[in-house]
Amino acid sequence: MRPLADAQRDVLAAMRPLPVEAVSLWSALGLALAEDVVAPHDVPPFANSAMDGYAVRAEDVAELPVELRVTEDVPAGHVAEGKVEAGTAIKIMTGAPLPAGADTVVRVEDTEPGDGTVKILAAEPRANVRRAGGDVEAGTVVFEAGTRLTPPHLGSLATIGVASPEVHRRPRVAVLSTGDEVVPPDTAELGPGMIRDANRPLLGGLLTELGAEVIDLGIVGDDADALRTSLLRGAEVADVVATSGGVSMGEYDLVKAVLAELGDVEFWKVAMQPAKPFAFGHIDGTPLFGLPGNPVSVLVAFEQFLRPALLTMMGSRFLFRPRIPGVAGERFVTDPQKTVFLRVTVSLEEGRWVARSAGGQASNVLSAAAAADAFAVVPVGVGTVERGDAVTLEMFRWPESRGW
Ligand code: AMP
Ligand code: MG
Repeated sequence: MRPLADAQRDVLAAMRPLPVEAVSLWSALGLALAEDVVAPHDVPPFANSAMDGYAVRAEDVAELPVELRVTEDVPAGHVAEGKVEAGTAIKIMTGAPLPAGADTVVRVEDTEPGDGTVKILAAEPRANVRRAGGDVEAGTVVFEAGTRLTPPHLGSLATIGVASPEVHRRPRVAVLSTGDEVVPPDTAELGPGMIRDANRPLLGGLLTELGAEVIDLGIVGDDADALRTSLLRGAEVADVVATSGGVSMGEYDLVKAVLAELGDVEFWKVAMQPAKPFAFGHIDGTPLFGLPGNPVSVLVAFEQFLRPALLTMMGSRFLFRPRIPGVAGERFVTDPQKTVFLRVTVSLEEGRWVARSAGGQASNVLSAAAAADAFAVVPVGVGTVERGDAVTLEMFRWPESRGW
């Protein structure tokens, strides 16, 4: 068996970032910046008011209350004509440029309107002013190359006029299920010995969530010619081909034979559970991930191999899920020869994240994986985790809450 870290290292070493292209902010979510983004100007571009109120001079409101003459009114998007002089105020709305002469905005709640005047009841010198560059300063690196864009990144890029950031292209991943027993999910009546294909919907969801484009190659039975045709087509149209099934030890593992014939594919037994059997290599230069057949193995192999590999292709600075320290909420017994990924729920109890089995831990029990928030990662050398023991949690989802 190969240690998981060795297998991961070999897979990642074979990955190259995809070409760079400019994409609109509307389609850049999840993609990684190909270069540092430098702000061409300040954000905000001008000093402006953080509140609806009155622009004043701090020295005029040092002693309160005080009555000031209101000389004009500036809504957002408009610029005051005059300046704030001693004894005067300009009525200002949130986001409007701070008029010349003013250094303070008094909230409307702290005033009383008069006839062409305003009475200031409370004020704090220099309060409620947003300085130019207070968000982003001109000439600084706002976001570094390799940053994966989240919604706030998209909005922030818009503020500096980067409407089409340069990102690494979205990876195209061809997905193929194998096995004579596997039938489409919309099969109403299962024939004897048949099961519905869980792996393409599962992989499709994982890939979409990551920001990859899914190319569906369907289901191929245990038939060498059909398999060869599909694999070659996948290698041609996609950046990565991902198959499931047929890479374990059984004598009907025809997939292995075809993969071996088509490319430089290696078959590994990785010291992990689930997802021990795993194939990796290239077909016509396209990386091929031969995932195991059991759906939970697909999930784990995706998380440990395909996800970091795709993030490398996407040019992401970070490749791995966050791991946090947790506590076992029950006793877990695992194979000490393998890195074991238990599917667990986590809950915050007295300040600690407590992990409990999300259900059956066999590699076909996908319903439990659906209930899980995390993998409890039990390393090689550890066979038993007692209740209350420290355990590493690899978070792939934080539990939602009904409210606080
Ligand atoms: P294999 O590695 O092809 O022997 O498959 C291992 C196990 O996973 C078998 O029980 C298969 O029936 C099951 N399996 C394979 N492909 C799928 C699939 N697409 N959806 C659900 N189960 C599958
Ligand atoms: Mg099979």
